Amino acid sequence: MIGLLATGNSESRVGINVLSIRNRIREAAINAGRNPDDISLVAVSKFMDVSLIKDAYNAGQMCFGENYAQELRDKIPLLPDNIRWHMIGPLQRNKVKYVARENVFVESVCDESIAAEIGKYALNRGITVPVLLQVNISGEQSKSGVPPENIDFLFDSVKDIKGIDVRGLMTIGSPSEDIRVKEEQFSYMQKLFLHMKEKAYNCGCTGFNELSMGMSSDFEIAVAYGATIVRVGSAIFGERRKNGI
Ligand SMILES: *Cc1c(COP(=O)(O)O)cnc(C)c1O
Repeated sequence: MIGLLATGNSESRVGINVLSIRNRIREAAINAGRNPDDISLVAVSKFMDVSLIKDAYNAGQMCFGENYAQELRDKIPLLPDNIRWHMIGPLQRNKVKYVARENVFVESVCDESIAAEIGKYALNRGITVPVLLQVNISGEQSKSGVPPENIDFLFDSVKDIKGIDVRGLMTIGSPSEDIRVKEEQFSYMQKLFLHMKEKAYNCGCTGFNELSMGMSSDFEIAVAYGATIVRVGSAIFGERRKNGI
């Protein structure tokens, strides 16, 4: 991480933002008694031009998040091969073919049929796709993910699917600006994650190590509650024209 800070190109506005978010993650980690290297930053680039993604890449950012399968498919060939992409939006069955690829991590698995479809493409293509299971922590109808009480069931139904590797949980915090609400939800997610991690290890899934939570407005709180992946969009790229979620 220090290497990236030292060598990154901070000439562009987006580049400066990447470095500043990295510093904030670092501080939040240290304040929480955690190793900053245990937290990955996904720069959420939905609706953003390829040129802005290049600015972030030139500042050392290697990992980007997209919400729409076709947008992801269209951007991948325009950008460097060593970028790692995270699919973080709701995924329909007929779009799985665009995202079941070597350099893509699918964070938004909400049901068995999508997991099976990803596994099918992965096997055909001779790869294993890492996935997270999405939990709907806020209870909002508009958000994807399974209710927390169904996560055990979802895990049981996908853990043996070939071609995928279940690596942890993902959630979107509520849009509430009340810090206490966020703390409650992230703290709940941390407990749920630790419970599932133990269960996963007992089933031999030793790669179940990731907890993806925290966005521009709340990633520091998420880090305090054990997030290993934070997904930051507008604080890096600026406001989006369309509302992305
Ligand atoms: C858009 C989006 C983000 C990033 O949101 P910002 O508030 O712009 O940081 C993170 N996660 C998901 C699932 C998103 O859809």
